[in-house]
Amino acid sequence: MHKETVVIDGRVIARALLEELEIEIKNFKEQGIIPKLTVVILGDDPSAMAYVRMIEKGCKTVDMELDLLKLPLEATEEFLVAEICRLNRDDRVHGILVQMPLPSHIRENVILSTIDYRKDVDGFNPINAGRLVVGADTYLPCTPGGIMHALDYHNIELSGKNAVVIGRSNIVGKPIAMLLLERNATVTICHSRTADLKSHTKNADILVAAVGRANFVTGDMVKEGAVVIDVGINVIDGKLVGDVEYNSVAPVSAYITPVPGGVGSTTISILIQNTLKSVKRALKRMETK
Ligand code: NDP
Repeated sequence: MHKETVVIDGRVIARALLEELEIEIKNFKEQGIIPKLTVVILGDDPSAMAYVRMIEKGCKTVDMELDLLKLPLEATEEFLVAEICRLNRDDRVHGILVQMPLPSHIRENVILSTIDYRKDVDGFNPINAGRLVVGADTYLPCTPGGIMHALDYHNIELSGKNAVVIGRSNIVGKPIAMLLLERNATVTICHSRTADLKSHTKNADILVAAVGRANFVTGDMVKEGAVVIDVGINVIDGKLVGDVEYNSVAPVSAYITPVPGGVGSTTISILIQNTLKSVKRALKRMETK
């Protein structure tokens, strides 16, 4: 049993970051610069709409301009591409986020590649994903960015540590693995074909669960004193549940993120931070013209 488990409070961490971002936005506005994010959404899928409402709330907190471009679910790929190109050209728009998932008649890779990589504040354009891999400056995808921010907030040492990531999606597993590697952790990526998962997780100083299965990681799979990051968002009997079985894992962990109130709470603040980064980059480009 670990003596003192620290619960990583994503809400507190996000609030602190949002306070800093609010000041930055105020300063920009005083110079006549209005940072603006545009979110494009097709249809009204309830979980996508829930995320959009979180974005709305975050932008309101920091007083950032948000445009919601609602398109019908039947909108064609051609039309969506044309809309994104219009936003790419609009100098007043600093960040573009196209809410996923897209309907099956629209190719995700086409849409992600169409978003100007300089305004791709979700970090999923292949150029930005590639920049992440080579360790170049980029927009951190929001969830992995939020995880790194939370680890840094608690001054958790990563260099030389064994980090195990369960999940290899493009939005969480792969980017968080790359970011941990960049910070000199020794990273293992596990997935559905991994043999003897427990032998890997038992060795993890840092364990990131991004599986999408409720209570998947149990206390017996976790090393004493590990840092456990639960990315999962699952709904069981109307309640949000993570990928980590909190009650059995928390007692053996040195640090753990709860669900809700952990990783998910930090994502919007990173999205806003990325939008401000886009503003700064645009200003720099104007200076060097
Ligand atoms: P995906 O479904 O894209 O990926 C899940 C990964 O888990 C896959 O790589 C899969 O392996 C792996 N996996 C599935 N079953 C097993 C198993 N039995 N053993 C080992 N690995 C397994 O999910 P996402 O990455 O998009 O999301 C993961 C979770 O995080 C979800 O609950 C999602 O809702 C949540 N999420 C939370 C966010 C937040 O802000 N907090 C943001 C984004 C997601 P394989 O590749 O072999 O199929």
